[in-house]
Amino acid sequence: MSIEKIVENQRLFYRSNKTLDVDFRIKQLEKLKRVVKENEDIILKALKKDLYKSDFEGYITEIGILYEEINLAMKKLKKWAKRERVKTSIMYFPAKSYIYKEPYGVVLIIGPFNYPFQLVVSPLIGAIAGGNCAVIKPSEHTVATSKALEKIINDNFDEKYIKVVDPLGGREVVTELLESNFDKIFFTGSVRVGKIVMEKAAKRLIPITLELGGKSPCIVDKDVNIKMSAKRIVWGKYLNAGQTCVAPDYLCVHKDIKDELLREMVKEIKLQFGEDNRKSLDYPRIIRVEEVDRLSRYIDEGDIYYGGEIVREEKYISPTILINIKEGSKILEEEIFGPILPVYEFNNLQDVLDKVNEGHKPLALYYFSERKDQIEKVLKESSSGGVTINDTILHVSSGFLPFGGVGNSGMGSYHGKYSFECFSHSKAVLKRGTFTEFSFRFAPYKDKIKLVRKVFK
Ligand code: NAD
Repeated sequence: MSIEKIVENQRLFYRSNKTLDVDFRIKQLEKLKRVVKENEDIILKALKKDLYKSDFEGYITEIGILYEEINLAMKKLKKWAKRERVKTSIMYFPAKSYIYKEPYGVVLIIGPFNYPFQLVVSPLIGAIAGGNCAVIKPSEHTVATSKALEKIINDNFDEKYIKVVDPLGGREVVTELLESNFDKIFFTGSVRVGKIVMEKAAKRLIPITLELGGKSPCIVDKDVNIKMSAKRIVWGKYLNAGQTCVAPDYLCVHKDIKDELLREMVKEIKLQFGEDNRKSLDYPRIIRVEEVDRLSRYIDEGDIYYGGEIVREEKYISPTILINIKEGSKILEEEIFGPILPVYEFNNLQDVLDKVNEGHKPLALYYFSERKDQIEKVLKESSSGGVTINDTILHVSSGFLPFGGVGNSGMGSYHGKYSFECFSHSKAVLKRGTFTEFSFRFAPYKDKIKLVRKVFK
């Protein structure tokens, strides 16, 4: 069926008003949870095939997190979807004011390869909660997972309501989708494609949420628990072999503790992935050989402190720490998105903040310190999508915090209540009574301006 026809059918279904019913939405969320549960093994096998994710990693980052989102939405949806009464100025008397949460209609969700299941199903939860119909385009690079997703969704949901389209289609399919008549586009992916999405959406003035990437700094000050910091940085950097949008992209460490931190990080890498990381069943692979080639070029831009092993045909790159980065290197500018961590040392926190503030606003920022004043300084004097203090990644997995970027790292946010808001329009409603009317605003105005001046002083 053509994309045009799919969208047209969804719009017809949307107009039937079925999705306006909050109980209908809750039932669909229940169903979504059930079908994900029934297909857990298939999803985990597919993730292993595409990215060599262990069952544990696959479960916590792609499945468990969805159950939390669905449970919260089911529990809170009635409250979120309720019209909200707000104050009314005396000037409008007699009147009452409300905010009605209205679905957008038919929405498009486009996903990336790195968390290929979670990053389309999580926004889908918001789309369902908001009362929308949805078309989903997963990444063509994760063949097994995207096909599994297609089967799971399309076998269980009416295509007039939710449909996964052409899981293996490339940019031609996305381009066609972007030229279709959607009411909202939710895109997760690179900054480069995010700009294409925004340009296309602008032509039709379609509202968008862009979940993009960038270079997320990890700054470690001198007064930290070094062992624990090393553990948490290694976890966040090498999760999914560094293919995580909020992974620490680079490490800035105070020169007084640099050597000790790096020694501890190497110990941690060995603890988490064994002496021979390649044999670890818990260490994922790079998505494609083209990506292995791109990443391997970064390794030549500094001195290898640890790792640097590449087995192209296995799409394996070992957890790598790079020091002495050469000036003018690409690794200084481009999002790494792989298991290579360049390390810089600093003496003065202000210098690091100045450097971070010179660049694009990152999706995430990590700061390790025990000093409250320094933590507040970093929080106040830098801008990023989100922050975790004394750890990595975790602010993203909280259902009570909005997740999204700012500036180059994206626009809009979701998760928990924010997913519902992301897929709902807040409609301002003023309901006036008719039992009286002040003639104040009507012509002839004569000298009413005197009164107006008193009111709006
Ligand atoms: P990508 O931008 O290459 O692809 C994302 C989607 O866009 C895919 O579905 C793909 O088919 C489509 N696409 C690719 N090229 C296109 C084109 N020229 N025209 C139209 N559509 C096109 O991203 P990726 O490589 O799959 O994922 C990695 C990127 O995503 C990284 O930059 C990462 O930081 C970012 N990311 C962000 C988040 C977030 O939540 N902020 C999460 C995961 C990944």
